[in-house]
Amino acid sequence: MLNTTELNFFKIALDSRKVTIEKNLNSTSVEMNEMRRNELKDEGDHAAMSLETAVDNAILGQQSKELAEIELALGKINNNLYGICEMCEEAINIERLKVKNFARYCITCREVVEKEQQH
Ligand SMILES: [Zn+2]
Repeated sequence: MLNTTELNFFKIALDSRKVTIEKNLNSTSVEMNEMRRNELKDEGDHAAMSLETAVDNAILGQQSKELAEIELALGKINNNLYGICEMCEEAINIERLKVKNFARYCITCREVVEKEQQH
């Protein structure tokens, strides 16, 4: 199990990542609204913008997904479930948690989950 100092370390890391993502999500939607308000001058602008919008949407989607994972991890910290594998209920290696703060599975189970998703 993780001790209080370690839990606090991850809580702070998750919280600050959450703030960054929320800021990104907000500023991106403001920018997109502004772009929509501005009239497009020609076809070239239009093509460039739809590509940009597609990229923005992909990033937004990815970040919203990450935000959901972070919320889940923060909830686990409050419920004393953080750092425990969802599959085998063993403790997740702390080095793994440092790389991926919101890891849900231990390395062994992660491999199983990934294999299942490929099939
Ligand atoms: Zn596991």
